[in-house]
Amino acid sequence: MNGLQLITKTTLMGPGPSCVHPKVYEALSMPTIGHLDPRFITIMDEIKVMLREVMGTKNEITLPMSGTGSAGMEAAFVNLVEPGDKVLVLVNGVFGKRMAEVARRLGAEVEECEFTWGTPVDPNVAEKKIREKKWQIVAIVHAETSTGVRNPVEKLGPLVHEVGALYIVDAVTSLGGIPVEVDAIGADLCYSGTQKCLSCPPGLAPLTIGERAIEKLKNRSTKVPNWYLDLSMIIDYWQGARRAYHHTAPINMLYGLHAALSVLLEEGLQNSYVRHLKMHERLVQGLTSIGLELPVAEPYRLPMLNAVTVPEGVDEGRVRKVLLESYDIEIGAGLGPLEGKIWRIGLMGYTAQAENVDKLISALQSMLH
Ligand code: PLP
Repeated sequence: MNGLQLITKTTLMGPGPSCVHPKVYEALSMPTIGHLDPRFITIMDEIKVMLREVMGTKNEITLPMSGTGSAGMEAAFVNLVEPGDKVLVLVNGVFGKRMAEVARRLGAEVEECEFTWGTPVDPNVAEKKIREKKWQIVAIVHAETSTGVRNPVEKLGPLVHEVGALYIVDAVTSLGGIPVEVDAIGADLCYSGTQKCLSCPPGLAPLTIGERAIEKLKNRSTKVPNWYLDLSMIIDYWQGARRAYHHTAPINMLYGLHAALSVLLEEGLQNSYVRHLKMHERLVQGLTSIGLELPVAEPYRLPMLNAVTVPEGVDEGRVRKVLLESYDIEIGAGLGPLEGKIWRIGLMGYTAQAENVDKLISALQSMLH
């Protein structure tokens, strides 16, 4: 038996990847064509139009980067940071920390304004910090997947612009599950990933960049220090008449993203947000009914990522193992300081369905009682 023969269907209820929609699987298996084939260019153009709608933006440059969500993060900083730039990262979990680390590696002067993990970024504290210095960039994670907390990204955009900085927003986990209104938020660059609420496998990082950020990119005094993620070249392939070869686009993944965006827009963005919320409420009710608790205060909970406190005396790793081996359900462990303390239950995209919630609750009930 080889590795592929071991694969069976698993209900993915962790922090991502999430369950893939059948129409996406269908699209992924379509015949591969050339990345400069006019038919493929049509697919690229349609993806850009759909992504603009899903991301709530009119930004011309809205495209999927090749690579996972971290490629989106890396692309954001590598294109906009020059050595010595002052970068403020509002941190309340693993992914805010990762942003800071990425910026530091580019020679930026990075400050982390850290909030207790499990609580949101406090806009008043953030405001003070933002007014403190002449920042070039302020960055924040919308949906902090490591803790299940929703950050008030919409409260800070105007302020970041007022002080002359660029605003980078991570929407890896939020996109498709809660509104990500890039233009209304005032995000100058926003990126996401395909494997969360878009019901697609991992492999692409949708990214949108606005005029102010493009100005900074154009006026850089140094070259973007990463060839693969250099947006100025990638734009040449995705935009305009020339369509110059940069790297071979991951054709079938882009078929998959096309199908995923079509499915999402057919459902309707609002309907998708409501579905995520309803499934979250169903999950919370089920968890509460079997005596489990959610550590994040209600107003800040993410519908698509639910942190659950591991009860005293319970071997959290064993619960995840049995869920996977006996019930074909995957849930996530805690990360960093939350390791061993929480489970992370994802209700992302195609996973967010009543039958999955009910199956998990009944499995947990029989294991814990
Ligand atoms: N940002 C957030 C908020 C995430 O949840 C993740 C992954 O879980 C990433 C960035 C990194 O994405 P990836 O693991 O796809 O590279």
